[in-house]
Amino acid sequence: MAKSPEEEHPHKAFGWAAKDTSGILSPFHFSRRDNGVEDVTIKILYCGVCHSDLHAAKNEWGFSRYPMVPGHEIVGLVTKTGSNVMKFKVDDRVGVGVMVNSCKSCEYCHQDLENYCPQMIFTYNAQNHDGTKTYGGYSNTIVVDQHFVVRIPDSMPSDGCAPLLCAGITVYSPMKYYGMTEPGKHLGIVGLGGLGHVAVKIGKAFGLKVTVISSSSRKEREALDRLGADSFLVSNDPAKMKAAFGTMDYIIDTVSAVHALAPFLSLLKTNGKLVTLGLPEKPLELPIFPLVLGRKLVGGSDVGGMKETQEMLDFCAKHNIAADVEVIQMDQINTAMERLAKSDVRYRFVIDVANSLAQSQL
Ligand code: NAP
Ligand code: ZN
Ligand code: ZN
Repeated sequence: MAKSPEEEHPHKAFGWAAKDTSGILSPFHFSRRDNGVEDVTIKILYCGVCHSDLHAAKNEWGFSRYPMVPGHEIVGLVTKTGSNVMKFKVDDRVGVGVMVNSCKSCEYCHQDLENYCPQMIFTYNAQNHDGTKTYGGYSNTIVVDQHFVVRIPDSMPSDGCAPLLCAGITVYSPMKYYGMTEPGKHLGIVGLGGLGHVAVKIGKAFGLKVTVISSSSRKEREALDRLGADSFLVSNDPAKMKAAFGTMDYIIDTVSAVHALAPFLSLLKTNGKLVTLGLPEKPLELPIFPLVLGRKLVGGSDVGGMKETQEMLDFCAKHNIAADVEVIQMDQINTAMERLAKSDVRYRFVIDVANSLAQSQL
């Protein structure tokens, strides 16, 4: 018989898990493997709350397995290193994102695109090579192969940096790959949440003109004054949308729910590119006429490889970019998830894991 989550590995671990499709999280005891020769053991300090955590906790994609400890925007301190680990030492500040392993030998792994490896292992809701389940960062500790650990630049705040491990790389990677970085070009960002607000900051750092396209005017002042966007467009204001037709070179669409693409494709110039990053539970309709008649491109992108993740962190440190965060305690996670579902977060919840778990275990 398979061992219980608490007994399958030698080291005790504690976190919060979703136990069923309600997505409600509650305390959970489990275990972590011994630190292998290639491994780094990390004491988790902070973990961001990505909308993917919410999709997964509620089984919106249909492949959730419970109990599930979400969390893939992890910042922590190294507490142990294996004998082959030269890159990191005890007390280093490090990050872990969406994946914790891959095959390391396929064409994608060889190109530093581990995120596209057919055997890539997600940080949670997946299976390790040894057949045990992966549990994520809403927990006190994690053991990760060194290749999937990045260094946090010294100047970065631990809480504001955590969301870069998923949200940051997810917007940075397509901007580089699809050539959306030419200074002076006009970038539209649909959805001002975790991904969207980091995209504004990274877009400005590349020298782009940035327009936020949001579903209401609620976030307008902050987008312009605090985040540094150049303009703001409310997507359900037909007159303003029409006035902006054909003005944008690139669009990054971060909307987490099913929505129409047609209005956003109209905002693109001929040869414009729209990258969809959101993962709604049902497919989107793809309007063909505007693509054909305007030689427009619609593409997707999934986080980024480990080398590029480190590059993104160094880029953000150089440009003084961190996420705007609302720091919460672990026992506030269910309220935070409810607010996230309503797009009511400025602009990423980050769990103060170390402090809140230490207290709840007393
Ligand atoms: P988030 O913080 O909830 O932001 C999503 C934003 O989309 C909201 O703030 C809201 O912005 C807008 N929005 C939400 N529902 C909407 C609706 N019904 N109609 C129009 N706009 C709506 O989420 P996130 O963490 O940034 O993640 C966004 C999506 O990307 C999720 O689906 C997530 O799973 C996915 N994701 C993908 C990758 C990848 O590798 N491709 C990585 C991470 C996350 P406004 O208030 O401005 O309208
Ligand atoms: Zn994520
Ligand atoms: Zn591979």
